[in-house]
Amino acid sequence: MSEKFIEFKNVTYTYEPEEQGEAKPSPALCNIDLTVNRGEFVAVLGHNGSGKSTLAKLTNAILVPESGAVTVDGIDTSDEDRLTDIRRKVGMVFQNPDNQIVATIVEDDVAFGPENLGVAPDEIRRRVDDALKAVGMYDYRLREPHKLSGGQKQRLSIARAIAKDPKIYLFDDSFSALDYKTDVALRRALKAQTDNATVLIVAQRISTVLHANQILVLDEGRLVGKGTHAQLMVSCPEYQEIARSQLSQKELALDTLNTEKEGE
Ligand code: ADP
Ligand code: MG
Repeated sequence: MSEKFIEFKNVTYTYEPEEQGEAKPSPALCNIDLTVNRGEFVAVLGHNGSGKSTLAKLTNAILVPESGAVTVDGIDTSDEDRLTDIRRKVGMVFQNPDNQIVATIVEDDVAFGPENLGVAPDEIRRRVDDALKAVGMYDYRLREPHKLSGGQKQRLSIARAIAKDPKIYLFDDSFSALDYKTDVALRRALKAQTDNATVLIVAQRISTVLHANQILVLDEGRLVGKGTHAQLMVSCPEYQEIARSQLSQKELALDTLNTEKEGE
């Protein structure tokens, strides 16, 4: 479990100004150092605009650092010759599922990833069915993706990532349009699919991150906290603020009990 898999070394990233002649905006991410080991479940938390999506895109080599370096399974993301190698390893579910739809039928959309990877047709069929069942969308396999609801589109995006059988899953706020019950059921189903993978999940709900091996807390582009829930509840005021705003008094009390037990 201690093999380095994703590494950010002093990473800074600034977007170009929207209009020519405008001053360069402040960095979306600033001096980020982090290590994710193979097989870890890592959550990224932070307010709107804190840099969570930017961090996900840097991991998938959609963006490359302005300074510093990102490596994924030993490959530097700025090495353009290795771009396909990185993309093969990563299954990314973007924040806006509309931007990801490529086919006119749900099952073709899910098949797109493994087809691109040259997977055999029988195996593609099996993966597509399994993935659609895992997200509870099997009955919708012949529908048109554009006519699905927001939550269904999110589930379709997740199925598409599962069918790629990636080494790394990047979920960028992929559960936000789901009601709590679907969210919980889906994450349970996903556990089996993602068990052998490394998972980086950008989340809003603290319940999603509670059991993460590592939680990364971003605030205005800076990494202000890194650790387990129990550690951050002690060390990170920004995390405490988010936890307090979401967990009930009872949950917080139970949590303290659990934390004490773990520390024994
Ligand atoms: P989060 O996902 O945590 O809401 P983002 O990573 O999307 O945050 O954004 C971080 C910062 O970068 C914000 O200030 C945002 O406005 C800015 N930003 C994000 N995407 C772009 C873009 N394509 N062009 C310019 N600025 C951007
Ligand atoms: Mg975002």
